[in-house]
Amino acid sequence: MSWNLTGHAWAVDLLRRDLSQGRIRHAYLITGPDGLGKQSLALGLASALLCDAPEAGSACGHCRACMLNSRATHPDLLKVVPEISGKRIRTGKVKIEAVRQLIYDVSLKPIEARRRVACLIDFDAANDQSQNALLKTLEEPPANVVVILTAESADTLLPTIRSRCEVIALRPLPPAEVCDALVTLHGIEAERADLLARVSGGRPGVALRLARDPDALAERYSTLALVKQLLLGSRVARFAAAERLARESNVDEIQATLQLWASLWRDVLLAMTDADLPRTNLDFGADIEALAREVTPAAGRQALQALGRTADLLGRNVNARLALEVMLLSWPSL
Ligand SMILES: [Zn+2]
Repeated sequence: MSWNLTGHAWAVDLLRRDLSQGRIRHAYLITGPDGLGKQSLALGLASALLCDAPEAGSACGHCRACMLNSRATHPDLLKVVPEISGKRIRTGKVKIEAVRQLIYDVSLKPIEARRRVACLIDFDAANDQSQNALLKTLEEPPANVVVILTAESADTLLPTIRSRCEVIALRPLPPAEVCDALVTLHGIEAERADLLARVSGGRPGVALRLARDPDALAERYSTLALVKQLLLGSRVARFAAAERLARESNVDEIQATLQLWASLWRDVLLAMTDADLPRTNLDFGADIEALAREVTPAAGRQALQALGRTADLLGRNVNARLALEVMLLSWPSL
């Protein structure tokens, strides 16, 4: 049975080898940016661990355990996901009660399978209290329990959690691989798939979300178009934009905007060179070429660096409006 995952063949191979050779770890931590397929990999691993008759480290796809897993109703698969809030991108909190319940559940004997598997998805959304609660389970794992965590980065978890897990760090995929999956698995037309694959930064989940949500694609379009307006705008207009962005968006949403703007500035810098490197924002080709002509390379680099600095500062809880003002005032004027 396939792992139902686009890309990351190396990670699947590694896990299949662990499983088929009986070298199963007590805890795995799958890391990587949003939309890469961390949860799919975690569930593929869980299915293989629960399957009655695994084949070369993969779930067989037709035993009773696999049927239950395909309906997400296997009694030995325990899963905790953050409760979702936020309108533009998914942010959530892991409830301590859910973590405590899971810790209790893994202390019980398996109901059907040889083991119980606990999946804690986006565990970087858990606060220190929840992470510490799980720590005891990782330090003294009950027999026949495998814990699978996912997080954007290993650094966002307590070092004591991290050190007890086998870390599997997923990387963005080549856009061509994402494009191929969009065309063959989801029937998306090739030109649109190519755009979505690049815009997603090699993250199949993000590409699919954009494909299914025309609003998200439109919002991306207006966020990118704002860059040109800001460069043409006065200081007053830039102050107003910083104020509006800080007021209307939470920190994760602002970070998403900064990421998008950074991708545009990177495209502008690429357009200044003769390098034949793939651009991200294919549908903004004309604006990118125009900016590459009107802005100096130094000013372009400075704008990109200011984005990186601001993203760092926001990660450290500084006043968002002030940080955005400083950034936008450092951008060149057209
Ligand atoms: Zn099976």
